[in-house]
Amino acid sequence: MKLLKDKNVVITGATRGIGKGIAIEFAKHGCNVAFTYSKSVDQANDLIKELESYKVQARGYQSDASVFLHADGLIKSVLMDFSKIDILVNNAGITKDNLLMRLTEQDFDDVINVNLKSVFNMTKAVQKTFLKQRYGSLIHISSVVGIKGNAGQSNYSASKAGIIGFSKSIALELGSRNIRSNVIAPGFIETEMTEKLSEEVVEKWRNAIPLKRGGTPEDVANLCVFLASDLSSYITGQVLNVDGGMLT
Ligand code: NAD
Repeated sequence: MKLLKDKNVVITGATRGIGKGIAIEFAKHGCNVAFTYSKSVDQANDLIKELESYKVQARGYQSDASVFLHADGLIKSVLMDFSKIDILVNNAGITKDNLLMRLTEQDFDDVINVNLKSVFNMTKAVQKTFLKQRYGSLIHISSVVGIKGNAGQSNYSASKAGIIGFSKSIALELGSRNIRSNVIAPGFIETEMTEKLSEEVVEKWRNAIPLKRGGTPEDVANLCVFLASDLSSYITGQVLNVDGGMLT
């Protein structure tokens, strides 16, 4: 069954990893996909072809989610190309890990800007459209680290915890207009982002997970499809973990 037939989604940072997984699952469910990327033009073009093979409309936009004016311009362009937006997935994120002792102001600001300010930028830019439609699903990708913290990731944890506070507030502000805002907190998902970690660290993570494996982008994408679809029409303001039981 196609759960997102004729809906339109905007996904930030979708040329690889979790964002790409979300784009593909949405396309399989009949959703037209507008996605952003930072630099990788070739990967963006490959993704467009892959998405179009599912008989949906697909388009990539080079746009920096951390820049307010880019986000605003992006939503205007998507509306011109797709005429409506039903779902926003705030996925773009980076890490710049270090112990507080060595963490620079630049590394703190960069992570907050890309991971948290981007969520404000994009949500604010799409708000008017959702209000007019009296419909919209906002999905923000946080992390289990935003719930429990992690040594060496104070900047990243702060950005991901901030997303949770932001989303809950927006759920309260916009619920009466049938606009839903939910957070997904992935645990350890094996993507290019986690490829930076040593095999030893990865093994330690896997062993600490009750389901004894890292997650896949599809594991996160499946929950995204649910939160984007009308199956979740009475769910808002929530934080849902996709973590193999890690935080149990
Ligand atoms: P990734 O590094 O593979 O992908 C991140 C994507 O974001 C890339 O496509 C990148 O180009 C894009 N991006 C980065 N900065 C951007 C910017 N300023 N504007 C637009 N796009 C930008 O990472 P991933 O593992 O796929 O992570 C996706 C999201 O999931 C991130 O928010 C991340 O924090 C979160 N997350 C990942 C894990 C994990 O284990 N992989 C766990 C919890 C949460």
